[in-house]
Amino acid sequence: MEHKHTLIWEDCLRIFRDNLGDSAHYRTWFAPIKPVKLEDHTLTIQVPSPFFCEWLEEHYVDLLRSTIRRVLGPEGRLEYSVVMDTTNPYTVTAQSGYKQETRNQPTAMPVPPKDHLPDPFIIPGLKKIKINSQLNENYSFDNFIEGDCNRLARSAGYAIAENPGKTAFNPLFLHSPIGLGKTHLMNAIGLQTKMNHPDLTVLYVSAELFTQQFIDACRNNTTNDFTHFYQLIDVLLIDDIHKLAKKDKTQDAFFQIFNHLHQSGKQLVISSDKPPVELLGIEQRLLSRFKWGLAADLQVPDVETRIAILKKKIHANGVEMPQDVIEYIAYSISTNVREMEGVLNSLLAQSILNKKTITMELARKMIDQIVHNSVKEISIDYIQKVICDHFELPVEKIHSNTRRREIVIARQLAMFFAKKHTKASLASIGTQCGKRDHATVLHACKTINNLIETDKSFKSMVDELDKKIKS
Ligand code: ADP
Ligand code: MG
Repeated sequence: MEHKHTLIWEDCLRIFRDNLGDSAHYRTWFAPIKPVKLEDHTLTIQVPSPFFCEWLEEHYVDLLRSTIRRVLGPEGRLEYSVVMDTTNPYTVTAQSGYKQETRNQPTAMPVPPKDHLPDPFIIPGLKKIKINSQLNENYSFDNFIEGDCNRLARSAGYAIAENPGKTAFNPLFLHSPIGLGKTHLMNAIGLQTKMNHPDLTVLYVSAELFTQQFIDACRNNTTNDFTHFYQLIDVLLIDDIHKLAKKDKTQDAFFQIFNHLHQSGKQLVISSDKPPVELLGIEQRLLSRFKWGLAADLQVPDVETRIAILKKKIHANGVEMPQDVIEYIAYSISTNVREMEGVLNSLLAQSILNKKTITMELARKMIDQIVHNSVKEISIDYIQKVICDHFELPVEKIHSNTRRREIVIARQLAMFFAKKHTKASLASIGTQCGKRDHATVLHACKTINNLIETDKSFKSMVDELDKKIKS
């Protein structure tokens, strides 16, 4: 039995032929279209590429509109499903220009299974393509806490969102080890850009998905479509570029796209786990381009920023948590924000599922299970806190220039324990203990060792502090 959409489409084709004759236009642009389905007065047709769809919208929108209305009535709508090849998973769904509202799409970037990529791109509107930007709405500037660790990157990102392509930060190259907020910041830039410039086409894509799409395009001989598609983007956010390492062909494709976009004044934001100079397996010509704009790193947030991040998340979850628990988490986990959030989430889950109140004890247990299981990392911040608690001093004193004896001792102890319990270099310990140099740290360690050898009560205090720090 013939399906309804097939019959409807045959009616449409007749009208197109009446208008265009059996011309090259008709054969090129209408004959290859396949009807897919008819639902709620919306006819979905399948076209072979995004550009096909663009072309139809640009040149035949009036004919399409009037035809659909004639055949389906005033509520008639047309939707495109762009499938470059029936075996090709790189698909694009699009809506005809006169269907104005955008469909709701899941906000989080779906991780596409290999054999079927979800339809990632939505194209309503005329001429200018409108796509689903694949941005995660949860990662905004609003909830990206500012600190010394990210100030440069954050303000560059903010400036870009105001004037994409027109600042000196093109490309903006964000780099840091894992879990320090690159993906969050990129999404924030994308969301903010869209708010400031609703007409611009913004796309967030991971280098992995980019590679996958490129491989599929190669397999299906649609690399031109692939490249063209990316060249239409106004603000391209490409995450984890280090994943392109050793993928020479994909790098070539990205090189072309990069050049085209950069030359046309379009904005690029790139993230990586390393600065450009340390990236291995990436072609020199790309690396040198990464340095054209601004390379900004995201560092481990200091303890105040970590506390602020925790508080923001706790607030967003509408729960309460005692201040000492928050501080304990912030002091204990200093390697990366994602890990810290992991602990927070388990605590929240525990308290909700088991109706337990969140206490220090619960927090300790959780952190032991999650973090200390792997490597127990003692942070310099935490060492300073323990020492200052012991001497009843505010932590700022350690960072000050005071030469009062008890403060000098506290500072030297902090340096001594930092040397003993962390992998930090003398220079870095110095910087973190009140901007001292490495010679000062060395001197501090000697002084404390001397005191331990000569002063019994001093030794027992050091032992006691040592136990506290390790607990
Ligand atoms: P990366 O991409 O560098 O591995 P992510 O962007 O995925 O890191 O960040 C890991 C987690 O830490 C995310 O949940 C993110 O929201 C959070 N995060 C990182 N930095 C901040 C910050 N400054 N303010 C708020 N949340 C942050
Ligand atoms: Mg990331």
